Amino acid sequence: MGAIKDKMPTRSHTGIMWRTNTSNKSRLAVDFDHKCAYCDDKDIYSGGYNSYHVEHFAPKEKFRDLEFTYDNLLYSCPYCNIAKSDKWVGGDASEAIVGDKGFIDPCTDEYYTHLERDENGNIKYISPIGEYIYFELKLYLKRHYILYNLEKVRVKRNAIKKEIDRKAANGADVGELTKVHHLLCAVFCEYFDLIYYDK
Ligand SMILES: [Zn+2]
Repeated sequence: MGAIKDKMPTRSHTGIMWRTNTSNKSRLAVDFDHKCAYCDDKDIYSGGYNSYHVEHFAPKEKFRDLEFTYDNLLYSCPYCNIAKSDKWVGGDASEAIVGDKGFIDPCTDEYYTHLERDENGNIKYISPIGEYIYFELKLYLKRHYILYNLEKVRVKRNAIKKEIDRKAANGADVGELTKVHHLLCAVFCEYFDLIYYDK
């Protein structure tokens, strides 16, 4: 079992800095490394930056004064954002959890004590609160484990390509590395097809 996200995101600002979604979103995309705060899917696989949303942890429909408060904002994929909608179990914005129900800010260590990832990249819950989040945000969707693996392959493939270029520039034999690179390209296409063609 591993962490649901490779790296816990950190917000670079606090309080109300900008009063438009657009201004906040451009900062959030950088802070969250262009990945969904909840499921970690990278935006390039789902239409890119324009398709991702500014998610309000405490929903703006219920807490209007938090609409532009940066500490309440997250970068989110449309799947998680739409699934969460205006759900909120507490009586006020600071009451995110009631009993075993509610949401946890993915910018806190606590988020990672309720959800994790198995060796195949599937998201798993490890507590009753994790179970609530898992089902409310539909973290069981196949796309999450596919995109997780797709990104792992892409990063590895790019690293190998760099190594090939470096070695080739020094006149070294890159035959074996090139084979691995081709293999990773094939695996990448297999995962890619799962998302875009095999529904
Ligand atoms: Zn998501």
